Amino acid sequence: MIAEIIINSNVKNLNKTFDYNIPFDMEKKISIGSRVLVKFGNIKKLEEGFVVNIKDCSEFKVKDIAVVEEKDFIDEPKVEMAKWMARRYFCNVSDCIKLMLPPGTGTKNMQKRVKEKSLNSVRLLKNQLQIDEDIENKILKSEKQIKVLRFLIDNDDVLITDLEVITEVSKAIIKTLEKNGYVEIYEKQIERNPFLHKVVEKNVSLSLTEEQQYAYNMVENAIEDYMNSEFLLYGVTGSGKTEVYLQLIEKVINSGKSSIMLVPEISLTPQTVDRFIARFGQDNIAVLHSKLSVGERYDQWYKIKTGKAKIVIGARSAVFAPVENLGIIIIDEEHDSSYKSEMTPRYNVKDVARYLGRKYNIPIVYGSATPDMDTYYRALNGDIELLELTKRANNSKLPNVEIVDLKQELANGNRSMISMKLYDAIEKNLKDKKQTILFLNRRGYSTFVMCRDCGFTAKCKNCNITMTYHIKQNKLKCHYCGYECNALTICPDCQSKNIRYFGTGTQKLEAEINKLFPSASTIRMDVDTVSKKNSHEEILSKFKNENIDILIGTQMVVKGHHFPNVTLVGVIAADTNLNIDDYRASERTFQILTQVAGRAGREKNEGNVIIQTYNPDNFSIEFSKKQDYKLFYNIESKLRKQLKYPPFCDIILLGFSSENENDIKKVCLEVHKYLKDKIENENIPIILYKPVPAPIDKIKNKFRWRIIIKCKFGENIINIINDCINNVFNKKNSSVSMIIDVNPNNML
Ligand code: ADP
Ligand code: ZN
Ligand code: ZN
Repeated sequence: MIAEIIINSNVKNLNKTFDYNIPFDMEKKISIGSRVLVKFGNIKKLEEGFVVNIKDCSEFKVKDIAVVEEKDFIDEPKVEMAKWMARRYFCNVSDCIKLMLPPGTGTKNMQKRVKEKSLNSVRLLKNQLQIDEDIENKILKSEKQIKVLRFLIDNDDVLITDLEVITEVSKAIIKTLEKNGYVEIYEKQIERNPFLHKVVEKNVSLSLTEEQQYAYNMVENAIEDYMNSEFLLYGVTGSGKTEVYLQLIEKVINSGKSSIMLVPEISLTPQTVDRFIARFGQDNIAVLHSKLSVGERYDQWYKIKTGKAKIVIGARSAVFAPVENLGIIIIDEEHDSSYKSEMTPRYNVKDVARYLGRKYNIPIVYGSATPDMDTYYRALNGDIELLELTKRANNSKLPNVEIVDLKQELANGNRSMISMKLYDAIEKNLKDKKQTILFLNRRGYSTFVMCRDCGFTAKCKNCNITMTYHIKQNKLKCHYCGYECNALTICPDCQSKNIRYFGTGTQKLEAEINKLFPSASTIRMDVDTVSKKNSHEEILSKFKNENIDILIGTQMVVKGHHFPNVTLVGVIAADTNLNIDDYRASERTFQILTQVAGRAGREKNEGNVIIQTYNPDNFSIEFSKKQDYKLFYNIESKLRKQLKYPPFCDIILLGFSSENENDIKKVCLEVHKYLKDKIENENIPIILYKPVPAPIDKIKNKFRWRIIIKCKFGENIINIINDCINNVFNKKNSSVSMIIDVNPNNML
């Protein structure tokens, strides 16, 4: 027997199968999906590969498979899915298979790693400055050592096993670092899965409202009839979508099947999980979360694989969990951008769910208060069944939303970032002992630094992007590559001392609030305060339990939290998202304002929302005041149609980067020419744009160019692009790397 094998490598040229002989004594141990080691080319050590097909004979002279590592890691349908994804997302099949493997097994010695999980942790003994100095002075040279230290700077105190897997270095490297005094390896009491340890009081199903019942019945029918239907559960915040999910999952369990429940990474909190535990008990539930250690994730994976857990709750990648007998996939907050991967494979989890839905004839349920334009468009077209929940389930009212025109505020002489109205509202809230959330979507202190005499702005030396001032360390930081330098007092161009710091970030906002309301307690949540394991959770529970007066934060404060005592939400600058160079700017603004408003007055107390903006007439701001999604959709979709943007057309971005700009230009032109010829021959409606530098044309010292294609994403264009990769790009041996992203989150 012959096995077709895919080598586990992201080298583009290896994205094909190679035939190997299955020795007689291995025949019983090998099936499609098995992980094997083979001798490959002239390489001395054995290479890892996956069996993707088994056949009787080969036209080539073949070598034997050397070792079978593991059978039944993944099954044949998973291999099929990986192949489907690789074509559609323009990556290697092995990149996709990796998503489906048990956590921590992407590299060798899986068994050993899992066993060692209770042994050792690593923490830094030197700080970033000392490390940077040693690198500069060439005391630290080994790239691998530097990689480990860099990782630890961002994530101090990690399990050694995790460190090995994530940074792909051996334990020897870490030991060397210990010997040289950079890190300490010590024994830490391992926490158990923080999502599944406490005793949660059991609860039972609520009796559904009429709207909930209707929605439930529609999906129930699809479950009973083995139908692959898609549903959009469109319901305002607090309308009881989760209760519908819970009862659908119960139905699926009762029919002997399993469920996948996807939630955005950031709202995958113990509170979310508790609602499921309360209904179904711990034993039935597996939680997959990036904050878990590799060992913990492995345990969860195994609990699913063995069929013990019937419900999988997790972020995006949980869609690949080894669930047998899948009965439903639910995607909550389906508009959330974390459902689209920004790393290879650049998949959209909704595509993958739809694929599984068709394959297993099961329903897919999308839920949101502000659906993705694309989902709603498909609902209007009848591809998705629209189910609406128009009222809040516990009869709490939607909050009052007021818009404050900051231009007017300036004209009235108020130069502060807090309008009179917001000031009064905060003051009143403090007096009433209620809590306030202030939302500002920029972190740091000032967002750019400029010389008033010559106009010089401080930019990162690696990226063509302005640096943000962070007051605590008195440093300028690049939010793209992490580069830091000392704050400026003298202009490097004209030596003027007239340096001004412009723009407002969360740090400055917090300082201002502390000045305006000295007796109020505040807590801040943004990437700078959230870095260690669980600390996001800690900030939120501190805010809730210690009744802190004011929570100040970025995007992170927006999602799905439930704070009964929050009655005021202030949006400091609604415009921050409007001015970005992205076709989704209005959609994001509307979504974020509506979601943030939904945090106010979720129980008995009435909620108030104050939105400050320089563009009070902008429709995405105006309609978020009314929380009217449909009005918003109608206007936005007309614009999108005119401009040929999704959902009417897809955008395919071919991004090129290299330290050598000439190489990029050359490769771009060749790729462009190939695509142009192909498209003309095919005579299909595709708009192909000329190669141009990306809006941010340099990041981490790499130049960035792009080609944009607009068309309906389908077989035609998939074929053309895959041909282009094989016939043009992969034939070049240049410094240029290319990514291909369909409807990317970030157009910069
Ligand atoms: P969503 O997921 O749409 O934000 P939730 O499911 O969290 O809404 O429901 C909001 C609140 O309403 C919760 O406190 C929930 O317990 C309550 N609730 C939901 N459905 C019902 C119902 N049928 N009867 C009574 N209360 C309900
Ligand atoms: Zn100057
Ligand atoms: Zn940078």
